[in-house]
Order: sequence, then C-alpha cells, then structure tokens
Amino acid sequence: MRNNETDKLRAYNLLKSRKCIRCLGPVTRGRKNCMNCLKKIATGNKVRGLKNNENGRCYICNALLDVISPASTISKRVKRIRMHCKKCILKKASRIYLGGSNKWKSLLELLDRQNHVCAISGLKIDIGSSATIDHKTPKVLGGENKLENLQWVHRDINLMKRDHTTSEFLLLCTQILNYQKGTGDYTCGADVSLDSIKQLALKQEAVWSLATQ
Ligand SMILES: [Zn+2]
Ligand SMILES: [Zn+2]
Repeated sequence: MRNNETDKLRAYNLLKSRKCIRCLGPVTRGRKNCMNCLKKIATGNKVRGLKNNENGRCYICNALLDVISPASTISKRVKRIRMHCKKCILKKASRIYLGGSNKWKSLLELLDRQNHVCAISGLKIDIGSSATIDHKTPKVLGGENKLENLQWVHRDINLMKRDHTTSEFLLLCTQILNYQKGTGDYTCGADVSLDSIKQLALKQEAVWSLATQ
C-alpha cells in the first residue's frame, strides 16, 4: 500500500515537472511518457501481444482464446491479425459505442436478449467473427451512441444496411425480393425511387412508434 502511494506521488511530481516517468526526459504537458518511451512501450506491448496470440491467448489480457483458427488455413497477412478474447472485444466495443469500456456487460446482455442472433436477419452471430454493433437510427441521421439505439447485427447484413434506418433497409429488401419475383406485387411500386422508399419508411416508423406507446 505504502509503495503504491509513493509511486503515485513520484508520478505526480514527475508529471508536474514535465519529466518522463520512465527515463526522466522532457515530455509534452499532460503526458506521462516521452515520445521515445511511448514508442518502446508500444513495441513491447506488440511483442507481448503477438506472443500471447502465438500461444492461443488474447493479445491484450492473455486469457485463453475460445476459438483458434488453425495456422495452416490462414495466410501470412491474416496471421498478423491480433486475436482478442470476447471480453476484450466487448470492452473495445463498449469504449467506442458507450463511451467507456466498463459498460461491456450491457453489450453482452443485449446479445443475450437477442438470443445470439442478428436483430435484422435472425442469422446466428458470434462475438469476434460475425457479430457487429449497428445503430438502429444511423449516426448520420442523428442516431445516438446509446444502448437503446444499438443492436447486434450480422457483419454482412450491417454492410448492406449501411446508413439506412432498419425500416428503410427492410423496405429495400422487400422491394428487391418483389422485383426479382416479377409477380407485379410490389410493396413500393415497380419503379419507385429510393426517396419514396425513405418516405414510406418514415410513415411506417410513425405507425410503429404509436403502436408501442
Ligand atoms: Zn522517456
Ligand atoms: Zn482479452
């Protein structure tokens, strides 16, 4: 305990006098390490992380990985991909989408509530491979980084959905299917524009939100 406090005091004094905590060299204001040491630390982390991966363990936390791709089936380039455990993947997603890694459990709970299937397609999804986070209302349309606006979606479905709302995407899918069937039974018309699909999606969302109120 005492050691911990002396360390803290030392770090504080070095920070105040703008000295690197590792080599006592000059640092830019507010930083703990000089650029040289930052580089060395990053290299050290990389070496350690890749070593962890070689042993079938998480790049970051060294936990045993659940699924390891057999080395023979991955190319040289893919080999350099850093493999993370599920918890570290969730922590990173939480940092990006919920503003802090400590909320990772709520992302896992969301996936549990979805029974580990894609919220749009029902395809089975797994953290670390096919599961991605999607904004129900895209950020470009003012959708927020809040749990209520997030859903787990299959990577391929997410790529197709892009900047569309879920209802726009669903209407687009039915439009495609109906057009391909060629039965003349269209949801939005035979030669409808994307804008009118978006209008229809807006109307449908209004109906849906009224129904759930
Ligand atoms: Zn330094
Ligand atoms: Zn990990």
